[in-house]
Amino acid sequence: MDWKKMDSKYYYEGNDLGCVYTKEGTTFRVWSPEAKKVTLNLYEQGNGDCLVETFPMQLDKAGTWYTEVKKDIKGMYYTYTINHGADTREVIDVYAKAAGVNGKRAMVLDFSETNPIDWDIDQGPVLKRKTDAILYELHLRDVSADATAGIKNKYLFGGLAEQGTHSPDGLATGLDHIKEMGVTHVHLLPLHDFGSVDEEHPERNKFNWGYDPVNYNVLEGSYSTDPYHGEVRVKEFKQLVKKLHENGIGVVMDVVYNHTYYTKDSVFEKTVPGYYYRIHADGTFADASACGNETASEHKMMRKYMIDSLCFWAKEYHIDGFRFDLMGIHDIDTMNAIAKELKKIKPDIILYGEGWAAAAPLLAPKSLAMKVNAAKMPDYSMFNDNIRDAVKGHVFEVEAKGFVNGKEDMEEELKFAIVGSTHHKQALNGKEKAWAKTAAQSINYISAHDDLTLWDKFALTNPEDSVEIRKKMNCLAAAIIFTSQGIPFIQAGEEMLRTKPGTEPGKKFTSNSYNSPDAINSIKWNWKKEYADVVDYYKGLIAFRKEHIMLRMMESEEIETRLHFMELPPNMVGYTIDGENLEDTLKELCIVYNANRSQQQVEIPEGTWNVYVNEKNAGTKPLAEKSGKTITIEPLSAIVLGR
Ligand code: CA
Repeated sequence: MDWKKMDSKYYYEGNDLGCVYTKEGTTFRVWSPEAKKVTLNLYEQGNGDCLVETFPMQLDKAGTWYTEVKKDIKGMYYTYTINHGADTREVIDVYAKAAGVNGKRAMVLDFSETNPIDWDIDQGPVLKRKTDAILYELHLRDVSADATAGIKNKYLFGGLAEQGTHSPDGLATGLDHIKEMGVTHVHLLPLHDFGSVDEEHPERNKFNWGYDPVNYNVLEGSYSTDPYHGEVRVKEFKQLVKKLHENGIGVVMDVVYNHTYYTKDSVFEKTVPGYYYRIHADGTFADASACGNETASEHKMMRKYMIDSLCFWAKEYHIDGFRFDLMGIHDIDTMNAIAKELKKIKPDIILYGEGWAAAAPLLAPKSLAMKVNAAKMPDYSMFNDNIRDAVKGHVFEVEAKGFVNGKEDMEEELKFAIVGSTHHKQALNGKEKAWAKTAAQSINYISAHDDLTLWDKFALTNPEDSVEIRKKMNCLAAAIIFTSQGIPFIQAGEEMLRTKPGTEPGKKFTSNSYNSPDAINSIKWNWKKEYADVVDYYKGLIAFRKEHIMLRMMESEEIETRLHFMELPPNMVGYTIDGENLEDTLKELCIVYNANRSQQQVEIPEGTWNVYVNEKNAGTKPLAEKSGKTITIEPLSAIVLGR
């Protein structure tokens, strides 16, 4: 396989790959330039022995195979049988948009019949600026799996769409809780069809994060009430999107184009062997994902595939943003081409990703969509591992501490985090390692589905400390995330001290819970009452952030001009933000974080200030008034003053 030759000779630019349904007839087109023979198989159902008819396909333009079935075949399922010479394989359409159980056969679906009422006027929240976003990362099952959720449609799309649900303590759960938190977007872990859960046996209670993609344009069947009929999951997911939008919440989809679950048996390999992946000179598959392969976004038909797929999700399902798994495996040109097309559909779409890979990809580093190359892809934000590790300690060294839990000399790293890793002359003692061109390029987070939950991390870094002390650390960490410049992101349940208990001897907690049972992964809603003070604190921080544009500046120059760090004792970082001429109800903010275990008195700009955040409370209403030149800050706490 010479992919360069394939790209120059056989690039197909049409938009009719896959099946195109009308009442009068359905066309089928599949790109497979080196195939010897391709047959279309029509089935009654998505599984079982029910072949109805086969149709030979003709080699058509640019290496595509084509046929038309001139009758109404709505609701039928299909595959292709592709002969590559020595071997012949039956495969689902690489462009399948609906499928039967376990994604074995594509479905001819009339998508116009899957829309909820008023779908044409459905819309997610409009972002004036990207830094207005507040992201809440959630696995669909986790929200409803535990009995304390009080949700009927456990594990399913419909579970997150339920309202009026509550915990045994009478507190809002699920969607109502998320709305109550005030976040702007729910970021859902992979929803495209993945391979690790058997959709025929949901009773096996099998959980998986879903980073094992099989069909990129098909929804995962195990999240629907009926995985056998391909239209059901489409309808149920659209209803969920609409419900979230009606509640003012946007939907971000986690997408995993960087690798596939299967390698030799993937849809890609069965359709065009050797084309869609990066392959070493010796014929082995490159593996920057550590999952067996890495896709080749720089190959023109793979690039087109990603663009087509993402545009389909954005258009058909009204998706408000995408999070790219191991984005560093993809090439920059492809990511920029994707952004260009998606912005035509939704100008304020949110795009972000992991600016790294699991191993070095088989492509020149300068071409890769890595964090270090962020400036070359201004439409993308990157997970900010600087802030993550500076605040609470290195992610892979479980006992390593950070600023809030006892590591010294973290002030400069923290300053770099506060300015969203943009250039600021006062951060890092002037050393230049800014990678973000604007604050919007920084996704500020301290916990996500990967690795230990924030609460479990504190248990391991500070076992000698009481729950009360660790709660203080947690709240200080949250205050840093929600007051820093950039886009804040939290893992669902972080606001109620989520924990994932260990299952192996000697392991108190589970950090890589990708296939752990619901008992480990799910949100236990009794936490909400148990840690009501922490929940309220997060809520207050979110509300305060939303009210003050001073915390959501975009341009690096503006941040550098308006945000000034103060001279403070060790283990403290403080700064003022000048809000003159900004559309803000306040003119100035003064924010101080104290990571010391003792009360501190520091000098602040003179005059009268209102306290909006202190060691106990956070919100948009003043908690107290302070005048004078000094202020007292409690141990392990943040204070936010405004005037
Ligand atoms: Ca599946």
